Amino acid sequence: MKFNNNLDDFDALGNEHIGTSENTPMRRDAFKLSNEEKIDIIKDDVRHIMETLGLDLTDDSLKGTPNRVAKMFVKEIFGGLDPDKKPSASTFENKYKYGEMLVEKNITVYSTCEHHLLPIVGKAHIAYISNGTVVGLSKMNRVVDYFAKRPQVQERLTIQIVRELQDVLGTKDVACVIDAKHLCVNSRGIRDIESSTVTSEFGGKFKDMATRREFLDYIKLDTQF
Ligand SMILES: [Zn+2]
Repeated sequence: MKFNNNLDDFDALGNEHIGTSENTPMRRDAFKLSNEEKIDIIKDDVRHIMETLGLDLTDDSLKGTPNRVAKMFVKEIFGGLDPDKKPSASTFENKYKYGEMLVEKNITVYSTCEHHLLPIVGKAHIAYISNGTVVGLSKMNRVVDYFAKRPQVQERLTIQIVRELQDVLGTKDVACVIDAKHLCVNSRGIRDIESSTVTSEFGGKFKDMATRREFLDYIKLDTQF
């Protein structure tokens, strides 16, 4: 897509859900303000949006919304913008000498589309082949959750999860598949409730077709308890 710096182009970029960078685009001054200062500013912004839409904020039901939304943005759904919240990089030695693929599947993804600020909900499936280092299983869920708690495009989320686990595990042999519904597609615009988006990133040995196939076959296993 040819990209000129005008607003129509930015609009088209968002509607087509194209991300421009592997890293979350952040301002240099992103962490100059404290979380409390951010909540204070965002609270006024949300109030302004609601009042502009014509809502009466003296109503008991609406009164607390600006503060509630501001806290939710900073501390919850966009909390993963804060590098201090990154899950710690604790790893273990692979004592069992388990040399096969380890798959953690059906990790719940709750994220937010950065083009519409509407939810992305789905499942992530992660695999790695240890080169001597392993991570606790819940670590993979935490990594997914950390990067999901940002304004995101699904492609970037998938890549960020793989890069982080490659760093932590010291191996390229990491893969991730995400299957998710975007409420900006499902509930507005084209309003297709059935469609979902699948993205994948295959590092190292997972570029090999047989290894990739094995991972994808494990994902298809229907685990019942
Ligand atoms: Zn969207």
